[in-house]
Amino acid sequence: MSLVVVGSVAYDGVETPHGKVDRMLGGSCTYIALAASFFAPVKIVAVVGEDFAPEDYELLASREIGLEGLERVPGKTFFWAGKYSEDMNDRTTLRTDLNVFADFNPKLPESYRSLPYLLLGNIQPALQRSVRAQMNGVRFVGGDTMNLWIRETHDELIETIREWDFLLINDSEARMLSGEHNLRRAAGKIMSTGPHTLVIKRGEYGAILFQGGYYFMVPGYLLEDVFDPTGAGDCFAGGFMGYLAERGIDPGHGDIEHQELRRAAIYGSVMGSFCCEKFGVDRFRNLTRAEIDARYREFKSLTDF
Ligand code: AMP
Repeated sequence: MSLVVVGSVAYDGVETPHGKVDRMLGGSCTYIALAASFFAPVKIVAVVGEDFAPEDYELLASREIGLEGLERVPGKTFFWAGKYSEDMNDRTTLRTDLNVFADFNPKLPESYRSLPYLLLGNIQPALQRSVRAQMNGVRFVGGDTMNLWIRETHDELIETIREWDFLLINDSEARMLSGEHNLRRAAGKIMSTGPHTLVIKRGEYGAILFQGGYYFMVPGYLLEDVFDPTGAGDCFAGGFMGYLAERGIDPGHGDIEHQELRRAAIYGSVMGSFCCEKFGVDRFRNLTRAEIDARYREFKSLTDF
């Protein structure tokens, strides 16, 4: 079943202890869509400028990602630059040039509106809300956010996630959003505002899935080399939602759905780990579903006891 993805399509400058790339394809929508495209048909809604390169369109098209909702307008594509710490657990944003993203007003093509799955990547909550409102009959909707929106548009964000089935957020953001340091309490508080499913991402340590009174610990895959963690959280989201769309699962509170959510979260961790193996989106140029499924099976054996 098809999945609509909204977010940023960007050019990124990234510096890690393994190297530096001044400009490469990035953006929350890009990472989510590439990761999810290994599981289900994906259609994106985003904006780029006149500088968006033909080879970047081609990469998205090669994964059969629907580009009808990718607007191209006069001006430059959103640019973001960041630098990672030695252990790569911290990141400093060096530059955020909104460019054409500043006036982004997402309009869903008619053909997207009745699709069953919607994943709202990290953009202003008001825009996420506007996209949600343009869908009719969506069965499962959720997304991501970041510290910037928690700080600057807190009330708007609460109103936005009230209408979501799930929220994916990292641990420091969960603490900030809830005002609770303890993650279990933070999860309870966040879920009382709307989403029945919550994933708290913990970087290299994996994630915790909360749903229906249960929680499930998802490990992070132990890579020998992490080249560039940019987009790993987005790829987690893409793998998670992609798997649910592939299976046609529409999680409520039943036991079967809960088991499927656990598998979805493992696929999320699998896709996040592949993302870190190369700079930017490079790992997705030749990744195969067979490699993804092999790593999924590895997760099964490394957590069995
Ligand atoms: P992640 O590492 O999962 O947090 O995602 C990093 C991606 O988010 C990069 O490719 C950036 O282009 C994109 N990004 C950074 N800041 C923003 C922002 N304020 N709005 C939308 N996307 C952003």
